Amino acid sequence: MRWQGRRQSDNVEDQRGEDSGGFPGGIGRGGGFRLPGGSGIRTARGGGFSGIIILAAIFLFLKFCTNIDPMQILVDSGGGDGQLLPGQSQTAPGDTSVKSNDEMTQFVRTVLAETEDVWSGIFQAEGKTYPAPTMVLFSGQVRSACGFASAASGPFYCPGDKKLYIDLSFYDELDKKFGASGDFAQAYVLAHEVGHHVQNLIGVLPKFNQMRQNMSEADSNAMSVRVELQADCFAGIWGHFTQQKGILEQGDLEEALNAAQQIGDDTLQRKMQGYVVPESFNHGTSAQRATWFKRGFDSGKLESCDTFSGKI
Ligand SMILES: [Zn+2]
Repeated sequence: MRWQGRRQSDNVEDQRGEDSGGFPGGIGRGGGFRLPGGSGIRTARGGGFSGIIILAAIFLFLKFCTNIDPMQILVDSGGGDGQLLPGQSQTAPGDTSVKSNDEMTQFVRTVLAETEDVWSGIFQAEGKTYPAPTMVLFSGQVRSACGFASAASGPFYCPGDKKLYIDLSFYDELDKKFGASGDFAQAYVLAHEVGHHVQNLIGVLPKFNQMRQNMSEADSNAMSVRVELQADCFAGIWGHFTQQKGILEQGDLEEALNAAQQIGDDTLQRKMQGYVVPESFNHGTSAQRATWFKRGFDSGKLESCDTFSGKI
């Protein structure tokens, strides 16, 4: 990527080196980059009817039957969405006091700025304003509105405070442990989390988090896959516009597609436990993740990211 010299976002809270003051506990987040072993999925019995169908119906109803684009929800909610957890304010102004603006920090700030530009443009085309998320840089562990998290759980987005959290050491892991190297692979990770932010704004994430309370674990996992694949598709949309700006270099797309494949549930499980348990998938297979990223990348359109209807 030709990212150097471009705008760097100030929507950053640098908590590196700070004591998070956290306490151990589960984190119920809106979808991390990866959830090893299916952690973070709350299990509840009941429901019975596949929530996927309901969510798909809602999405399609909004989109096609009422002529209300799901984007519309943004306006009605005024940025709030009832997903907030106790003790958290809705928004926090970005803290521009970045502790160390080393090359990696500059890179993620630049990628974040690029996502702001792209999504602002897409929202603007719908007559809406895009409320940009805040990126929290942390080291080791962090406390979010979604709970306490350690670097081991990977980057994640918390719908409760509309912030994305990343310990930049994850990129080392992505390269060495998961075999996904390259700056565009790293950018994809961030763009995926921003994709969850967009899902939060358009109402997909709140609906999912509400519905999965009453779903079986299998149904919850199956719907989680659809949510995650949509975030991959949204990351692809970002990639589409990034390419249009001429920022991408030869091999960048392949880096992202390789990353998507390396972190597919089947590949991860095969690597970590030697066998695959499809019912426990919550992010999608390697093939699905790469396919949906590519779909967004090729089209640049939200409509191409309807992962809630039909076969994925
Ligand atoms: Zn995710």
